[in-house]
Amino acid sequence: MRFCIFSDVHGNLEALGAVLEDLAKRDSDATKVFLGDAVGYGPNPNECVARIRQEAHICLLGNHDQAAVSDIDISNFNPYAKHAIVWTRNSLTTETKEFLRDLPYRVDHERCTFVHSTPCQPERWHYLFTMHDAVTNFTCFRTQICFVGHSHQPLCIVQPVEGRPRVESGPVIKIEPDCRYIINDGSVGQPRDGDANAAYALFDTESGQVEIRRVRYDYSLTQQKMEEAGLHRYLIQRLQFGH
Ligand code: ZN
Repeated sequence: MRFCIFSDVHGNLEALGAVLEDLAKRDSDATKVFLGDAVGYGPNPNECVARIRQEAHICLLGNHDQAAVSDIDISNFNPYAKHAIVWTRNSLTTETKEFLRDLPYRVDHERCTFVHSTPCQPERWHYLFTMHDAVTNFTCFRTQICFVGHSHQPLCIVQPVEGRPRVESGPVIKIEPDCRYIINDGSVGQPRDGDANAAYALFDTESGQVEIRRVRYDYSLTQQKMEEAGLHRYLIQRLQFGH
């Protein structure tokens, strides 16, 4: 079985289109899992939700999705994110809002757990930054691999049977039967690891490999649309630097 795991599209239709095109060329039968944050930051939230809804077999809720369709407190969002959420709230159709509102925080499926933020308290939207966070989070799921999004930075943490977890680098990760994994698939629509190309993950359960793929897309078109929509300059510029 093959899975395509993608997340953090953030209303960027050009990046989403490029990722789905890359996937169709490589593996059109993969089960598509979307880890949340369809909207927020980008200029095409309704179009992105419609496309994700049509393509993905499993869809999860992200913190930006939740903030865009509810009146939860967004005081902990940075000023740019806050402004974008207000813009997004005013742009979403009723249909988009209804779809986002019903999405789950976490889904366990065969060997995998899928969640936007962290397997521990997914509704609190914690970030997984330190090894201490990783140790705690390995206790909050029972499957072999937990795929997460949220930080917009691809990352793989391996927990061997004995010993401390460690970070594994490289675009291809070999899944060993006696290890457990937390894998961040990066971001489709707003990468923050210094690479402007859209990121997503492919997991082939037979070969036991997870590949983090990077896909070029025309961010200048997204930037132009953001400018026309009156979105903040900082959000527009960061797309070309991937930070
Ligand atoms: Zn996000």
